Order: sequence, then structure tokens, then C-alpha cells
Amino acid sequence: MRLRILAPLLPLLLLMHPPVPASGQPLAISAAGPLTPGEVVLLRIGTRLDSLEIRAFGRSFPAFPVDGAWNALVGVDLGTKPGTYTLRLEGTLPGGEKITGADTLTVRGKSFPTRHLKVEPKYVTPPAAVLARIERESAEVEAVFGALSPARLWSGPFAKPVPGALISEFGKRTVYNGQPRKPHTGVDLRGAAGTPVAAPNAGRVALAQDLYYSGLTVILDHGLGACSYLAHLSEMSVQAGDVVKKGEIVGKVGATGRVTGPHLHWTVTLSGARVDPLSLIDVTR
Ligand SMILES: [Zn+2]
Repeated sequence: MRLRILAPLLPLLLLMHPPVPASGQPLAISAAGPLTPGEVVLLRIGTRLDSLEIRAFGRSFPAFPVDGAWNALVGVDLGTKPGTYTLRLEGTLPGGEKITGADTLTVRGKSFPTRHLKVEPKYVTPPAAVLARIERESAEVEAVFGALSPARLWSGPFAKPVPGALISEFGKRTVYNGQPRKPHTGVDLRGAAGTPVAAPNAGRVALAQDLYYSGLTVILDHGLGACSYLAHLSEMSVQAGDVVKKGEIVGKVGATGRVTGPHLHWTVTLSGARVDPLSLIDVTR
């Protein structure tokens, strides 16, 4: 894993009692300037610690040890308002002493383009007969997100699940048949129906199911709060509980659920923050 940009060392950092000899820079961050909604940042904390916890944007982002340092992926949720936020670190030194630190993260506004899509009317105003199903599925998905693996299952760079180009960016405002709906929380990648869909990284299949809006859907729990949601498949070749390696085929591109044609939809969440999957690829490269 490499740091894309080593920002000038953030002037801060671990406010230590007593000062601790840092191995390398105490904190490096992969973003050089203000962040934008959906961006993923890689923090690298070069101090020897036994444990580390990071909090930002009201979420806890788990850190993991790498070569004697600690790394963490921090995600700026799509809905984050522009402003200045505090990043807090709490760690334990070898020997048991607690240390804490804080720094600020600035988020600037970003204007997302709007897309107008024409879909079957039942996906814009669902008939009464399917409302209970939609509610049940939404509770099931929520339960999956509430029970993710605390251990890191992923390693190395994340990769696109299909080779196709980006056809609809993260964050686009979406208007279905003239009616505004939730913004696009993932990316749409080009792929003909039947194109194999590969796991973007290792993980455990947390859900493999036909859902009303997202069609045949595979949710991969990558561990440490990282999750992939792969939607609109024509076929699924895994089931809940399966453990998959990075690159393993989990299904095929399709056009199931609320779509205008075959493509792969890929959402990524980090501790619940909806982030741009391409940003995750970038920082873990
Ligand atoms: Zn999509």
C-alpha cells in the first residue's frame, strides 16, 4: 500500500505524555488539501503503539498495524456538509500508557451533476403489494451492516470488480421518471450482461439475495468496517457465509432491479460512511 501524497506533516499530532520517539513521521495523510464528500483518506501513524482508535465525523474508523506503524482508512460520507471536523486518536503505548491526539480535517462542498433516468414505474412508485418486501429487505441489509467482521479480511489494493469504464459517477443526483430520489451512492461500471464480477478484495459474503431495488445483490464484508455492495447481477455464484479471495467471481453482470440496462453498480462503505469506490482503489494502490 502506498501513500498517494504525503502531506506536509500535519502540525499536530499525538499529544504525548511523555513525548514518544516516533518511528518516522507521527502522522501522514494521503490527502494534501481539503477533502470532498465521498473521499477516502489513508492515515499512517508512525508511532509504535499497542492499540489505536480513530474517531472522525461521528464514526469510529479501525486502525490496523502495518510494518511497525498503524494505518487506517477514513471515509468522508457522501452527505458530509462542508466544514471543519476533528480527527481524534487514542492509543496505547507499549507499556500500557494511554496517549491521545487530535487534528482537524476540512471538507469542502462539491456539486454533483444530476442524471435523469427512465425506469419501470414500479421502481419509482412501488405498488402497495411490495411495500412490506421493501421494508423487510431494508431491515435485512441494515442488520448485515450492523454485524460486520471486526477483523481485517482485506489486504492490498482494492480493484474494480469488472474491467469496464465508469458510466455513472459516485454522488450523482438522480431523477427517476421526473422524480428526484436518493443520490447515487456508488459507481456504475460498464459491462455486458454475463460479464464475470470479481470480488474487489477478499472478504466474507454477508448477503447474496434478490432485493427489490438492487436486484440480485452480493454484499461482501471485507472486515474492519469495509463493505462492498454489488448490485443488478444476472447470476450469483456465492452464498451468504462464503469466504472469497480477491478476484474470485461472485456473479455476473445483469440488469435486475431498478436499472435502464445491464451494468455493475458498486457501493463501498467504511464504518457506514458511503464513499467513492474509485477513491478507495486510489489510496490502497
Ligand atoms: Zn448505480
